[in-house]
Amino acid sequence: MKAKKHLGQNFLENKETLYKILESANITKNDHVIEIGPGHGVLTRELLQRAKKVTAIELDGDLIPTLKKKFPNLELLHQDALTVTPPSTPYKLVANIPYYITSPIINHFLRHQKQNHRPTQMTLLVQHEVAQKIYAKSGDLNVLAIDVQVFGKPKLVAKIPPSHFNPPPKVDSAIINIEVTAPLVEDAAIDKFFALIHKGFAHKRKKLSSNLGIREDVLKALGLSPNIRAQELSIGDWTHLYAVVYNTT
Ligand code: SAM
Repeated sequence: MKAKKHLGQNFLENKETLYKILESANITKNDHVIEIGPGHGVLTRELLQRAKKVTAIELDGDLIPTLKKKFPNLELLHQDALTVTPPSTPYKLVANIPYYITSPIINHFLRHQKQNHRPTQMTLLVQHEVAQKIYAKSGDLNVLAIDVQVFGKPKLVAKIPPSHFNPPPKVDSAIINIEVTAPLVEDAAIDKFFALIHKGFAHKRKKLSSNLGIREDVLKALGLSPNIRAQELSIGDWTHLYAVVYNTT
């Protein structure tokens, strides 16, 4: 069956990378694992051997019959991962995700869920460039880094070359691991907090004060330069700014 480019189908063929994903995910017999995009099941097979339960979400209907036949113990959802409501019981997300929806997947499972529906850990294969954005450090942040770092601690596990996939993608990939922790922003404030972030980053070259339409004194009072740009704030600075702008202190 020909790989479907529009569904981000780059099937993993390298055993070393497969075992690196599994080692980083550190699955035990107590774990419920959710896998997005099982494809032909190369990762699914290993997850089933290690976990208590595996749920796989696959959008491509052509892959479903074979997956059902190969893995009778698998809970298989023929669905778009972005429409699945994650369980309220603990689970780990492990996936070689379709790259065209990396940010939407991350946001669907973190920002758009309440804490008890978020995974306890995410181990993902993503584009290397996206991985670098995700674990950007304070002083050089971006919206995706904040999307992730509000909810957990990302770590780069390994850089993976295109030759480990069939067909090979055009770019390098990376395994990342995100340990999900207590969020730095409470659930009730998340939407407003991220609206502030998006507004702050709307025009990267403009000063934060102009993007947000706030007085420079507000920034000075927080110990920030009046000329500061969005990418220069730490997440702590953003939470303080949020509290001041929305008067929650
Ligand atoms: N896990 C397999 C592997 O490592 O070889 C396949 C990975 S491939 C990069 C991505 C998989 O995600 C494909 O099987 C594709 O059909 C599936 N997929 C694409 N969009 C999806 C979506 N919105 N929801 C669920 N699965 C999707």
